[in-house]
Amino acid sequence: MFNMKAVEPRQLDTGSTFKFRCYKGISCFTRCCSNIDIMLTPYDVLRMKRRLGISSEEFLEKYTIVRTDKNSSHPYAYLKMNNDTERKCPFVVVPDGCTIYTDRPVSCRYYPVGQGTLKKRDNEGKIVHEEFYFFVKEAHCKGYEEQTQWTIGSWKDDQEITVYDSMNREWKELLMRRNLPNQPMLDDKKRMLFFMASYDLDKFRRFVLDSRFLDIFELPGEEAEEIKTSEEALMKLSFKYLKFMLGMEQALNVKREFIKGKDKPADPATEKKD
Ligand code: SF4
Ligand code: SF4
Repeated sequence: MFNMKAVEPRQLDTGSTFKFRCYKGISCFTRCCSNIDIMLTPYDVLRMKRRLGISSEEFLEKYTIVRTDKNSSHPYAYLKMNNDTERKCPFVVVPDGCTIYTDRPVSCRYYPVGQGTLKKRDNEGKIVHEEFYFFVKEAHCKGYEEQTQWTIGSWKDDQEITVYDSMNREWKELLMRRNLPNQPMLDDKKRMLFFMASYDLDKFRRFVLDSRFLDIFELPGEEAEEIKTSEEALMKLSFKYLKFMLGMEQALNVKREFIKGKDKPADPATEKKD
């Protein structure tokens, strides 16, 4: 997370224009890769663990710290900065730059633009999520003194953000969930499931394929096959599972024979394969 004092209080859209250029050789090169808090999205973790050729478990162990958000009790993974005075990102090499550049997290791609989501009701009363943007102007960043013209839309294209936005959209709905007044905190089991399904995709795969998950939940034919070969499809299933598990929406259907009592959903964690 950047310094909030550097956020320009103006809501922007994809047509908003700005001048900026970041390049190897600019006096501030890599200054933005130290002393920052980068909250990771599930898709960030997928791209980075794939890039490094390690499991999600190993990536989380080596490169992240966990912080629990007090408003939602969700545990979130943050990139673990080096334990030096500058708190450098483990992936920055001075003066060369980012060693995982083509798989860097989405917040590094957006910078110096920030992105937020508003939850609103449309004319028919349905809840919709509206995305907006803002500029981050930190004193150390000299890119704003350059003359290359952008719109936020052309910046997003240049930084290859579209695939990240599309993978993160459902995750952002989960980010907006808050503790209920009558149930202030998620219990330990739900917090563990939240973290596993959000970030630890290799463990979530075992959770789905080594349990009776696919016997309990009704998945459309192709999806049940796709999750076996596509990590992106598996990640999309994890978001549905989280929405279901947190009671946000009926994103998954329980098969009739597993509905116990009055619409009580089955729990795959206690329904091991025979
Ligand atoms: S991941 Fe790359 S771009 Fe992001 S802070 Fe680290 S070195 Fe910089
Ligand atoms: S501080 Fe700004 S201009 Fe300098 S390297 Fe980072 S993003 Fe680029």
